[in-house]
Amino acid sequence: MADYSEVIRFIHRMYGTDEFIPLSVPKFVGNEKKYLEECIDTTFVSSVGKFVDRFEEEMVRYTGAKKAVVCVSGTNALHMSLMLVGVERNDEVLTQALTFIATCNALSYIGAHPVFIDVDRSTMGLSPDAMKEWLVKNAEIRNGQCYNRNTGCRVKACVPMHTFGHPVRIDEIVDICAEYHIELVEDAAESIGSKFKGQHTGTFGKVGAISFNGNKTITTGGGGMMLFQDEELGKLAKHITTQAKIPHRWEFRHDHVGYNYRMPNINAALGCAQLENLDRYIKSKRQVATEYEEFFKSIPDMEFFVDSENTFSNYWLNAVILKDKEAQLDFLQQTNDNGVMTRPIWELMNRLPMFEKCENDGLKNTVWFADRVVNIPSSVRL
Ligand SMILES: *Cc1c(COP(=O)(O)O)cnc(C)c1O
Repeated sequence: MADYSEVIRFIHRMYGTDEFIPLSVPKFVGNEKKYLEECIDTTFVSSVGKFVDRFEEEMVRYTGAKKAVVCVSGTNALHMSLMLVGVERNDEVLTQALTFIATCNALSYIGAHPVFIDVDRSTMGLSPDAMKEWLVKNAEIRNGQCYNRNTGCRVKACVPMHTFGHPVRIDEIVDICAEYHIELVEDAAESIGSKFKGQHTGTFGKVGAISFNGNKTITTGGGGMMLFQDEELGKLAKHITTQAKIPHRWEFRHDHVGYNYRMPNINAALGCAQLENLDRYIKSKRQVATEYEEFFKSIPDMEFFVDSENTFSNYWLNAVILKDKEAQLDFLQQTNDNGVMTRPIWELMNRLPMFEKCENDGLKNTVWFADRVVNIPSSVRL
């Protein structure tokens, strides 16, 4: 059995403590308290107040999207995104088996089904090559829509996920989606601040969904956001996520089935303060990653995962690749026994009871990663 004590010592040293080191914890070093107090002092903690509009405007500026609509979680940002691009019951959606459950839950809420496409070894995200191969083999275009020839179901959307903040080859996925009349929704839950060829992730698809859960790079307690290039679609999203109420001083009339997905003012206040420090956090995370990268060059049979050409990753969660499944288990055991929190990648979606019957393309790289990847401490150091 390999001995990982040198790695454990390095991680303790890097975070400057002998105590327990968590995987990823939030940092509140800016105006968080000030803005929260302002909410409480003015009583505007809920659906009225200035922080929601301000947070959305600042996010438009930060990401370069035409419109940003914040909501109560990344999961419902994904749910709403899929509805907005027209995914319906029994549609199929191309996505990754290597993702957090929320991606698949969101499409299940609509009654759509995932088709699991393999990931790239270079990005850990949806592979345009594998996607193209599956489409060439299985898809046909009828009346301007893509259908799965074997199941007869419409293939309505594609949801790539920027794993751990590392952007997928999104430009190629954009082209394939256009060729096959497939709507593109980016699961950018983990990739606030990450860019592909200088453009912010979540702004390539028709909609991009971002999460502000407590373990993400910046947090609003719980929260999410949709990014749009189409301003009208963004306005519709805002309307539907706020109960589809027709604005009026006293009348309560609604013109859609709406959702109460609005982000409360108090959460947006936290978000505004967090956003002020986002670039500092990313700088710190990338510095941590650089130190890991250097260190792991000298460790046999371990590889530190780095972002690929043309990309700028926020390094939300750092990942190492072990030799095999046995080494993965040994490493998990030794680190967690010695005050360094680590965890394997998520159980693959196609191995969960809800999705085990869903179609997949063999998932060669996906399974390879599942047997080898371990996430190591990634918190911001300030
Ligand atoms: C965190 C996350 C989500 C969901 O975000 P919540 O805000 O927790 O609902 C969705 N997809 C991925 C890949 C995530 O990591």
